[in-house]
Amino acid sequence: MMRTKIFNKVTGMVKGLLPFYLFIFLPFNTLAGDPARSALPLGSSKNYEVVPLPQSIVMQKGEPFILEAGVEILATADLQQEAAFLQQYLKEVTWNDLPIVQKRAKKVRYIELAVSPNVKEAEGYILTVNQKGVTIQGGSAAGVFYGIQTLRKAVKEGVIMNPVIITDAPRFTWRGMHLDCSRHFFSTDFVKKFIDLLALHNMNRFHWHLTDDQGWRIEIKKWPKLISVGSQRTGTIIGTNSDIDDGIPYGGYYSQDEAREIVAYAAARHITVIPEIDMPGHMLAALASYPELGCTGGPYQVGHYWGVYKDVLCVSNERVYQFVEDVLTEIMDIFPSEVIHIGGDETPTDKWQQCPKCQALNATFGKPTAQSEEFSPLTSRLSPLQAHFTKRVFDFLTAHHRRALGWDEILDGSPQDAMIMSWRGTEPGAKAAETGHDVVMTPTTFCYFDYQQVEDTQFEPSRCGGFIPIEKVYSLDPAPDSLSTAAREHILGAQANLWSEYMTNEAMVEYQALPRMSALSEVQWTKPERKDYEAFKERLTRLTTFFELYHYQYAKHLWPDRQMPSRWQF
Ligand SMILES: [Zn+2]
Repeated sequence: MMRTKIFNKVTGMVKGLLPFYLFIFLPFNTLAGDPARSALPLGSSKNYEVVPLPQSIVMQKGEPFILEAGVEILATADLQQEAAFLQQYLKEVTWNDLPIVQKRAKKVRYIELAVSPNVKEAEGYILTVNQKGVTIQGGSAAGVFYGIQTLRKAVKEGVIMNPVIITDAPRFTWRGMHLDCSRHFFSTDFVKKFIDLLALHNMNRFHWHLTDDQGWRIEIKKWPKLISVGSQRTGTIIGTNSDIDDGIPYGGYYSQDEAREIVAYAAARHITVIPEIDMPGHMLAALASYPELGCTGGPYQVGHYWGVYKDVLCVSNERVYQFVEDVLTEIMDIFPSEVIHIGGDETPTDKWQQCPKCQALNATFGKPTAQSEEFSPLTSRLSPLQAHFTKRVFDFLTAHHRRALGWDEILDGSPQDAMIMSWRGTEPGAKAAETGHDVVMTPTTFCYFDYQQVEDTQFEPSRCGGFIPIEKVYSLDPAPDSLSTAAREHILGAQANLWSEYMTNEAMVEYQALPRMSALSEVQWTKPERKDYEAFKERLTRLTTFFELYHYQYAKHLWPDRQMPSRWQF
């Protein structure tokens, strides 16, 4: 039975890779009791060289540990959830269903999970393998979870495990992935599958872009038209910069219960969901729902095309602040995250310049009433009106013991404790960090995964333009030595963004994410001196067996022998 399964799997692979896959899959046969057929020579560390690469892998002398029937998972009461994940993962890669126990018995070999004071970093772990068993000690349950991720990848390479001590902890505390669910809507099942990918890559922040001009996607009970009106659009522009509307109604939203389900699903995997409500720009869906929130009073319609709309919230209208506070109150109730993303990017001032109320407010700041420069996302400075708006939203969140995070446009005029997401290159982030702001690096030049992975567009489903090959992603150093020591401490980490204008379905999201997400995971986790692109490619090749196992679509440019998905499959 098992042999048949393996055989089918192998024959399903591309011919040229046959020897490689035999190498990987044969060790499973050792479960049937043939320990002589070890996948790797004694002393080899290959199967522990996973993505993201652990900080230290030290091989030990002695006989290997064989993961086979009879081995049990030993975990304390507070680690039962982690034990259940380990049990599930091992079943997926070995078909062996190991029991979970809380008490040690004689003559049983264990995979033992424990939180230990020996591990200094909360997210760190020590993974030890010897003939008698495996232990994962974590600085916290999260550390244990990351040790489990390393173990599951190592076991996929072979159930005969050479003795080793792996000492590991992440370089950065913010290891994020973003997903835009406004431009196109993705099901809760898919969001969970996406979160599984974060877990596989030791990532711990899911930045959920929930609202934008083209659709409001989160239920707000006090403002129900956000869903009944704002979550639907009557059509979508076809292609890039065309003026042809498909006229096909499009919509979708997450109920608060569904959002809570996602929060819990992520939390079980030690991932915090960071909700984003983009304001005061990117608000057309809200304006279509409640036209009184705009400077002109509308009418407005939910956006059909991409780009930046000139209609934004009227920042001199007290009703707008009531709206924002009501929305954020419900958001804070759904999302326990300390950090709440309030957007703040790409906010044209045109409507404010024409609005008597906004101009009257602007005059009270004692500054010129209009920005002379034309709006451009690359050159805009925060207008006094946006600074005023942002400050009020910040103060509201602060009063509720939350921290505001915004795109780097908000830097000018923001309070010192404002967190900045640097997207217009790394320079705004560097500048923010030097002036004491906490920063997450997510520059368009390295981290915009909606951009193409190869220059040749023939097989690329995304029509977004831009070009970010995987080696470019891998080369990012979010906190380079060129920054001062103090500034480097303010760089919390890095994140990649998946904007969904041109990702019309879930397979395309996976394709755009993979395997660049794997490169990003080493940027986030592994110390720069450990990184090596050529060696990474070997590790990545092994990791792709997980993409295959869980049926993720991924780009295969690195493996010319592997068949790329055809365009029609998207
Ligand atoms: Zn106004």
